[in-house]
Amino acid sequence: MEAEVQATGSCDLCGNFRVSATVLTVRHCVDDDTFTCRLRCPGCARVLLLPVARHVAEQSVRAGGLLELWTLPIEERERGHGMPVSIDDLGELLIDLDRVDVVDVLRESLGMS
Ligand SMILES: [Zn+2]
Repeated sequence: MEAEVQATGSCDLCGNFRVSATVLTVRHCVDDDTFTCRLRCPGCARVLLLPVARHVAEQSVRAGGLLELWTLPIEERERGHGMPVSIDDLGELLIDLDRVDVVDVLRESLGMS
């Protein structure tokens, strides 16, 4: 007889616990290839979402846990094509926002003047 696969977790209210891997719902984000699991805390029954390593997720699914695939919302999948914004850029933006002619400065920087 195979031993039951156990998963460990932690609840802010109840502390650490162990549950059968079969009560987990493994969530695989196909966009960033990360895994989380959703389960109810055995102490307070709150729904918890915990990050898990790939091998733990695979072990849970093999043991009978459900697998759920999901994708990030569109706005989180967007990637810019320009240069990354630096802390200096943000400092300059903050100074520009205090100017009374901020709209004119913005138009000029975009070639719209
Ligand atoms: Zn709890």
